[in-house]
Amino acid sequence: MSLNIMLLGLPGVGKGTQAAKIVEKYNLPHISTGDMFRAAMANETELGLKAKSFMDAGNLVPDEVTNGIVAERLAEEDTKPGFILDGFPRNLEQAHALEDMLSKEDRSLDAVVYFTADTEVLVDRMMARGRADDTPEVIKNRLDVNGKLTEPIAEYYAEKGILHKIDGARELDVVFADVKKLLDSLKNG
Ligand code: AMP
Repeated sequence: MSLNIMLLGLPGVGKGTQAAKIVEKYNLPHISTGDMFRAAMANETELGLKAKSFMDAGNLVPDEVTNGIVAERLAEEDTKPGFILDGFPRNLEQAHALEDMLSKEDRSLDAVVYFTADTEVLVDRMMARGRADDTPEVIKNRLDVNGKLTEPIAEYYAEKGILHKIDGARELDVVFADVKKLLDSLKNG
C-alpha cells in the first residue's frame, strides 16, 4: 500500500510545519518544487539559472521545466512506497502532467490534504512572522492571488474524490492529529 500524498494550502496555513511532521513520522520523501528550485539556484545549476528570473519576479516557472524536475524526482526509487508533494501541481496543466507520469507506472495520488484557514488567521500569522514592509493589504492581496490558483486545484481533486480538507487554523499538534488519522486510514486502507 503506497502513500502518495499532495499538500495544498495558502501561505501561513502551516503547510510547511505539517510537511516536516509527516516526513518525520511516515519517513516519506518530501518533494517541494520551491525547495528544489531554491537549491538549484543556490548551486547555480542550469535549472537554477532557468528558474531564477521567474522566481525573482514571483512568477511560476514554466510548466515544461517544472514537470520535468518532478518527473525525474518521481522516477527515483525512494518514492515508490510513497511521497509528499508540496507546491506541485500549481495549475491544472501540471495536475494532468502529474497524472500522466504516475499512471505510466500504475501509480496515482491517494490523497490531497487541503489545509484551510480564514483569511484573517492567515494575515495575522504572516504579520507575526513576516517582514516589516508586509502590510495587511499586501498580504491580503497575495492570499487572494494564491487563492485563485489554489481553488481550481482543490476542485479538481474534490471531483476525483481524493480531497481531504483539514482545518489549519488550530494548534499545530491538533492539526497533525487529524493528518495522522487520515494517513493511517489510507495506510491501512
Ligand atoms: P514556493 O516555495 O512553493 O512558494 O515556490 C517558490 C517559487 O518557486 C514560486 O514562486 C515559483 O516561482 C517557483 N515554483 C515552485 N513550485 C512551482 C510550480 N509547481 N510551478 C511553477 N513554479 C513553481
